[in-house]
Amino acid sequence: MTPDGRTRAPAHVLILGGTTEGRTLAAALDGRPGLRVTSSLAGRVAQPRLPVGQVRIGGFGGPDGLAAWLRAEAVDAVVDATHPFAAGMSHNAALAAAATGVPLLVLRRPGFAPVPGDRWHPVPSLAAAAALLPGLGRRVFLSSGRQGIAAFAHLDGLHFLARSVDPPEPPLPPSLEVLLDRGPFTLDGERALLREHRIDVVVTKDSGGAATAPKLTAARELGLPVVVVERPPVPEGVPVAADVPGAARWLDQLG
Ligand code: NAP
Repeated sequence: MTPDGRTRAPAHVLILGGTTEGRTLAAALDGRPGLRVTSSLAGRVAQPRLPVGQVRIGGFGGPDGLAAWLRAEAVDAVVDATHPFAAGMSHNAALAAAATGVPLLVLRRPGFAPVPGDRWHPVPSLAAAAALLPGLGRRVFLSSGRQGIAAFAHLDGLHFLARSVDPPEPPLPPSLEVLLDRGPFTLDGERALLREHRIDVVVTKDSGGAATAPKLTAARELGLPVVVVERPPVPEGVPVAADVPGAARWLDQLG
């Protein structure tokens, strides 16, 4: 509380980033008087899109390493704005927050929502997606991220078109074409891509967000089945905001 009775945002906020939401929150908080914001990136992408403001890159060394960092840097609040599938980091953040007493919020955009005409096959994991694929098609568009391609490496009867920011590393499926690209993607582009490569089934994580949703619209238009890998749960007891204004409100009310 300030002397005039108004609440005050915490003095040092750590944003665990790697997402559009993380960058947008850093931009929204940038320049607030009395507030220091640090964004943290894992360092997976060779040339990451950097948030504005202070950035640190690389792992903390598990939950204990993160807890030590929170103490050493006098962090007052953590916003976990990692990708919905970065479950390891979210788990570590929950443990470190519990150990240090630093308030933690998960900023997680809503998942994709099916609409009439969608032919979605929800599955709990990439392994389950791989098990389902041979019954659905032979030419697969894989947009589940570079790190997930290994789950499909044993499927030698199928052809894969995989899109990722950086080149994937082995193990890889024997019949694989890699498209290095980074969203946002357009509906026209996605439609053309699926047609040109004669794709007959699409695999996606339920990442949510506008940047990657056009592939789902294109698949629906073309009548293609889509295997949707469901999200891991948010750590129990951690509050969730669905958007950047919600996260900013949470920070404001910490006082
Ligand atoms: P993960 O499996 O949940 O995390 C593995 C380890 O990477 C963590 O234990 C941590 O290492 C480090 N790490 C992850 N995010 C970090 C961050 N923001 N700052 C510092 N260290 C971080 O993570 P992941 O799925 O590999 O994702 C890595 C990054 O890419 C995340 O920042 C995520 O937002 C982004 N991303 C992921 C996906 C996806 O599909 N998984 C998609 C797009 C973007 P320590 O234990 O050493 O601290």
